[in-house]
Amino acid sequence: MKVLKFGGTSVGSIASLLNVKAIVEAIPAPVIVVVSALGGLTDKLIATAGLAKDGDRSYVDEMDAIASRHFDIISAVVGEELRPGVTDRISELLSELKRRYDGVFLLRELSARTLDSIVSFGERMSSVIVSAMIDGASLHDSLNFIKTEKWFAKNIADQKITSEAICTEFEGISDRAVVPGFISTDRDTGEITNLGRGGSDYTAALIAAALDAESLEIWTDVDGFMTADPRVISDAVVVPHMTFVESMELCSFGAKVIYPPTIYPVFHKNIPIRILNTFNPQAPGTLITDTPLADDMKVKGISAIKGTAMFSIRGEAVCNLPEINTRTFNALARRGVTVFIVSGPDNSGEFSFAVAETDTAPAKKALETEFAPELSTGGISGILIEENLATIAVVGEGIREDARLGPRIRNSLLRDSIHVVASSNGNSDTTLTFVVPLPSLGRSLKIIHALVV
Ligand code: ADP
Ligand code: ASP
Ligand code: MG
Repeated sequence: MKVLKFGGTSVGSIASLLNVKAIVEAIPAPVIVVVSALGGLTDKLIATAGLAKDGDRSYVDEMDAIASRHFDIISAVVGEELRPGVTDRISELLSELKRRYDGVFLLRELSARTLDSIVSFGERMSSVIVSAMIDGASLHDSLNFIKTEKWFAKNIADQKITSEAICTEFEGISDRAVVPGFISTDRDTGEITNLGRGGSDYTAALIAAALDAESLEIWTDVDGFMTADPRVISDAVVVPHMTFVESMELCSFGAKVIYPPTIYPVFHKNIPIRILNTFNPQAPGTLITDTPLADDMKVKGISAIKGTAMFSIRGEAVCNLPEINTRTFNALARRGVTVFIVSGPDNSGEFSFAVAETDTAPAKKALETEFAPELSTGGISGILIEENLATIAVVGEGIREDARLGPRIRNSLLRDSIHVVASSNGNSDTTLTFVVPLPSLGRSLKIIHALVV
C-alpha cells in the first residue's frame, strides 16, 4: 500500500484538484491520501486571527472570502449527489471557525491554543472536499490518531501512541482513505495541536511508517527535489536519486521540499520516498532510498537557513574544550536549542557555534546560567553573538573525501568579497557548511551552485 501526500498548491485550485483526483483514482486501493489545507489558507487563517485580535472588523470579510473559496471549489469538483452533504459539513466547520474568530475579536486575545484550533480548520475542510471528490473514498480524522506531547514550546508527535492509533484506525482498510495532514491532538489534554508548519508531510510519514507502506509519495508543485530552490537558482536541476541522509541534511538546512521530521520514521522503516509533481505527473521525480546508486550525482544540492546566529565563547576556560563542549551542548539541549554548526577553537582560543536566530534568547540565557562562575572570575571573558547571518549547506554522500572542495568554495566566495564567517569542521561526511552575512546569501548560493553542480 502507498501513502500519498498532496501539498497546498496541489489542492489549491479546481484544476489542481482534478489532477489529484486523476492521480489517486489511477492507483489501486487500498491507498492513503494525506492532504494539506488549500494553498495559502493556513497563512490566511493566521493573518485573519491577527485582525480579530487587533479589533479590526475586516476579519469578517476575510472569513467570507475563505467561505466563498471553499464553496466555489465544492461546486466545481464534488459530484451532484454528494454536494449538499459536503456543503452542509463545510458550513458547519465555517460557523465553528467564525465563532472562534468572534471570541478572539471580543476578548482581543489570541492564545497559542486558540490559534492551533483556528489553523486546524484548513485541513479539516480540505479533507472533507477531497474525500467527496475521489471515487470510493472514506474520510479519517487525524485528530483521533495523530497524538502529540509538549516539548518546550513545541508540540511533537508521540510516535508510539500515534503508531498504535494509526494501526487501529486503518486495520483492514480496503478503500481510498483521505486524511487531513498537519493536525493532531495533545495525548494528555485532547486539545487540538499541530505538527508545525509544513507538517502534513510528517502526518503522511507517520502513517506510512506505522502501516509499513510500500512507499511514501510527496506530491508537490515542482518536478522533484532540485539541486537548489528553483525560486532562487533558476538553473537548478532535478536530482533523480538521493539517500535519506542527503535529503535529511538538505531539508534540515532549509530546503522546503520535505518537512524535516518527516524523513526519520520512513528512514527507520526503509520506506522509499518519491517527490512528484501534481502539475506534471509524468515527470519521473526524485526517489529517496537508503543507499547511493552507482550513477548518483556527487553533489545533490545546496540549501540555506536564513536566520542564523553565531555564538562565540572566549577566554582561557575554552582551553578545556571537552568540558566547554559538553557543558554548552547540555545547557542548550535542556532548553530545546539545537546547534547546527560548530567551529574552533582557533588560535585565538575561541569556540563558536551557530543556532537558529529564533533560538538566540534561550541560547544566551542557557550559556549565561551555565557559565556564570567562569564569567564572574574572568575564565570566560565574553559570549559574543553575531546575528543577521545565513548558513549554507552543500550536500552529497562522501563529499568530505574531496578535501579540496571546501577550500575551493571558500576561495570562490572570498574572490567575490564574501566574508565566510565560519565553516564546518564537524564530523558529517555528507555536508559542508558555510556561514555568510545574510545580505550576501543570494550571491553566495549562485556562486556555490555554479561551482559544484
Ligand atoms: P507543498 O505545499 O506541496 O508542501 P512546499 O511549498 O512546502 O510545497 O514545497 C515545495 C516548494 O519547495 C517548491 O515550490 C520550491 O519552491 C521549494 N523548494 C525549496 N528548495 C527546493 C529544492 N531543493 N527542490 C525543489 N523545491 C524546493
Ligand atoms: N497547512 C499547513 C501549512 O501551511 C501544513 C502543510 O501544508 O503541510 O503549514
Ligand atoms: Mg510542504
